[in-house]
Amino acid sequence: MKKLVELNHVTYRYDQRKTDGITNMSLAIKKSECVCLIGPSGSGKSTTAKLIAELIHPQEGSVKFFENVKTAYVPQNTQLPEDKTVMEYLLDSLSYLDDDEKKETLVRTNLLLLNISNETHSPISAISGGQRQRVIIAAALVQNPNLIILDEPFGHLDEKLRGELMEELFSLFKDQSIACLWVTHETKEALSFSDRIILLNFGVVQQDSSSIEIYQQPTNMFTADFFGKNNSILGKLISVSDNDLLINLFNKEIVIPKPEKFKAKDHQDVLLIIRPENINITNDGDFSGKITTQYFQGAFNLLELVLNNGYHMWMYAPGHIRLNKGEKLKFSIEYSKVYCLDEV
Ligand code: ADP
Ligand code: MG
Repeated sequence: MKKLVELNHVTYRYDQRKTDGITNMSLAIKKSECVCLIGPSGSGKSTTAKLIAELIHPQEGSVKFFENVKTAYVPQNTQLPEDKTVMEYLLDSLSYLDDDEKKETLVRTNLLLLNISNETHSPISAISGGQRQRVIIAAALVQNPNLIILDEPFGHLDEKLRGELMEELFSLFKDQSIACLWVTHETKEALSFSDRIILLNFGVVQQDSSSIEIYQQPTNMFTADFFGKNNSILGKLISVSDNDLLINLFNKEIVIPKPEKFKAKDHQDVLLIIRPENINITNDGDFSGKITTQYFQGAFNLLELVLNNGYHMWMYAPGHIRLNKGEKLKFSIEYSKVYCLDEV
């Protein structure tokens, strides 16, 4: 797919004496793609968004735009003018155009697309949180961008409304072939709505891959732990074959898939990434432990078990099952879903 913008080894520091901002960042956004920037607070998400919006410029490296790229940027915490109507505000955002009729048509088209045409002449002070968010997005869309940059656009809406708005907006962007770079710190939302996720920590890209890959095949422990509960357990590599690894886990020999680009050698320590959903509570399980913590989460109970060897492991049990702290359980691990990191 055609590239729209590319960052090549970009470094940007707010304070040259520190390592804040972002360091040696390379990434690309392609036509119609929905890319999410995620990471802890202060990891450089907004800085990256501002570099692509050309509000700041790299101190090292380059930001390259390809032909016919038109960006629109929605900053974190956009303020709306309370004394204007929706129409007045959106017309203002097009003040660089001369043709009044064209401006009004653009505004009306986008209000229709965003399902807020009923608020065209409402004062901004009178519309709801969700509607305000639509108006903010409309002000970006009337610019007719093919790349929209949204910095935590839905942060202050409640979860249900945010989910509904995102479903609608991301499919609108796809329909209109608008690429989207959006910033969030919500992992579930990132995984649900993105073609690709870029995870940052301390201004450095940790991983840049599809939602499924970043979740199932994390390249380091930070990434593995970032996207939900995870068990990182030390194992010993016994041997490597074409497609499998033979591993010693808790003094038991298990066979797990060999990841691409796996480099570790026999007898080396490796780190096994075992997601709680790939552990099954079953009477004929290979392992056992005692429940130390239990969180009821509706569909599931999230359990923490302590094993005889002192390891703690997270796993799920169905939500309708009643379990007690201190109860002993047997469990099995779905070995085919264990991911192995070759760096401990
Ligand atoms: P995020 O959006 O991921 O929370 P930012 O990109 O805003 O992170 O910030 C990255 C780092 O740069 C943080 O350490 C932050 O404190 C610092 N920073 C951001 N903006 C400024 C600024 N205007 N002046 C000084 N430091 C800043
Ligand atoms: Mg930010």
